Amino acid sequence: MPEAVDVAIIGGGVVGCAIAWQLAKGGASCAVVERGAFGGGASGATAGIVAPLWHLDPDDPAMFRLGLRSLELFPLWSAELAEAGVNPEFQPTGVLRMAFSDADAEELRRAFRWQSQLGLGVDWLERDDLLRREPQANPEARAAVFSPQEGCVRGQRLVDALAHAAGRLGAALYQGVEVTGLRYDGDRITGVETTTGGIAAGQVVLAAGPWSGLGGRWAAPGGPLDLPVRGVKGQRILLRQPGFLPRSATHNFVGYVAPRLDGNVLVASTREEGCFDERVTAEGIAALVSVAVRSFPSLAGAAFVGGRAGVRPATPDGRPIIGPAPGVEGLTVATGHDAVGIMLSPGTAELVAQYLLDGNGTPLEPFGVGRFG
Ligand SMILES: Cc1cc2nc3c(=O)[nH]c(=O)nc-3n(C[C@H](O)[C@H](O)[C@H](O)COP(=O)(O)OP(=O)(O)OC[C@H]3O[C@@H](n4cnc5c(N)ncnc54)[C@H](O)[C@@H]3O)c2cc1C
Repeated sequence: MPEAVDVAIIGGGVVGCAIAWQLAKGGASCAVVERGAFGGGASGATAGIVAPLWHLDPDDPAMFRLGLRSLELFPLWSAELAEAGVNPEFQPTGVLRMAFSDADAEELRRAFRWQSQLGLGVDWLERDDLLRREPQANPEARAAVFSPQEGCVRGQRLVDALAHAAGRLGAALYQGVEVTGLRYDGDRITGVETTTGGIAAGQVVLAAGPWSGLGGRWAAPGGPLDLPVRGVKGQRILLRQPGFLPRSATHNFVGYVAPRLDGNVLVASTREEGCFDERVTAEGIAALVSVAVRSFPSLAGAAFVGGRAGVRPATPDGRPIIGPAPGVEGLTVATGHDAVGIMLSPGTAELVAQYLLDGNGTPLEPFGVGRFG
């Protein structure tokens, strides 16, 4: 263990590893402490869809900006990470959203009105155009919208690529080591305690996903740190059908079907409030198979390859918490990304690194924990 670093990061998911890479690039010494394996939480179980146009509300400008910035960074990060040694398998396949009912078609039309103004090449597809693009798509689809710059990434590979790139720049990486507490000198944080010893740090980043919010876990000078982060379980499965892969990540208003570079078809995801386990269940598999067959009926004959589940870190208002923890000097929180943590990871890491390296906290204000009162 290093005796001292500039920044200690709790949690080796996509958020913690992305922040470590950005900090290492900026010249800070840092340590990432992960109690399991890097990507062992939601980040490895994720569907990895990168579709901010579909998941973020343009009426929430701070979130929307973060999404567009992340979308802009994905291809650049992908190339840089591959160059550093591990390809995160980002595929700019585009995202296709298919409507099967009048209500879905109306929602698609409403979204298309503003999406087509963004200059990102978003296109309206009538059924015949859709079937030309995706010949095995369900012909019951009425219309679709295609967003060409979005896509998907393999979550575990992204985490591996980020950790590898950070490590090459000198970040200390610990797996199988749990942070058990924070060290203080008065109100100022001075490091972390772990199961294998302490690390002194000028700054600490709490990026422990849904475990960031467990009441009373992180003692602070003014009492336990109370973060409104809860766990929301999600499952995804992989299918395989020789000779078929969708060209794009597709969504049918219930779930995603996406191609993977290994030839598997990814189907995601369930949303299970109040569940904090990582079991793949028969009910989850059944729900996801119906998502797959709804979009591509031929997948009814696909082989089942496997499934994975993870717990998303969610907040009461759907926005992540990114910024300084009130009343604790030197502690920064970066969590609560719920269903969009992969797609927002580049922008999040950029904001946190700017704050920690240059002291520029203004862009973090909309994401501060203080908004919960
Ligand atoms: C099925 C599913 C589908 C999803 N689909 C998408 C999608 O398509 N697009 C998208 O953008 N997002 C998606 N998400 C959400 C996304 O995966 C998450 O928002 C993101 O992975 C959260 O990353 P994180 O680093 O905050 O948390 P995590 O990945 O959970 O990482 C936190 C890490 O902290 C570690 N930790 C906790 N406590 C400690 C401690 N005391 N000491 C050391 N380590 C600790 C944990 O072991 C864990 O590895 C999906 C999630 C799931 C489950």
